[in-house]
Amino acid sequence: MTGGVDIYHEMIVDYSRNPLNYGEIENHDVTFHDSNPLCGDSIDIDMKIDEQKVTDIKFHGKGCAICMACTSVLTEITKGKSLDDVRKIEKHDVLSELGLEHLQAVRIKCALLSLKVLKSAVYTYLGSNLDDSTSIDTLKAEAENLY
Ligand SMILES: [Zn+2]
Repeated sequence: MTGGVDIYHEMIVDYSRNPLNYGEIENHDVTFHDSNPLCGDSIDIDMKIDEQKVTDIKFHGKGCAICMACTSVLTEITKGKSLDDVRKIEKHDVLSELGLEHLQAVRIKCALLSLKVLKSAVYTYLGSNLDDSTSIDTLKAEAENLY
């Protein structure tokens, strides 16, 4: 299956050169930043949220090819989804899009940084809009236990 691998490799190079949904949202409803010091990846995600739905999402920052490609894919998956559905996005959903299911442990943080940032942004948004501390803790744990 070398052909398949090459296609994925091309996709990753392509996304890293021309990332999707790259930029900033000026009137965002929530924004979150995190970084992966091991590699130097550093990502901000801005979201517009209307009636519990992600109506727009953009990211900015810098990262390696895997980080940029996975963030491109993730922002595409997220756009238009309800917050409930965004919470259900799993690492496999992102990794399988780019054939990265068997990524080495050291690169997995590159691949999943954006998912961590996204989940943290969602819990920040939900946390500021509800006062049930138990569910905020659950959301926080969800974001922190990704890898
Ligand atoms: Zn990286």
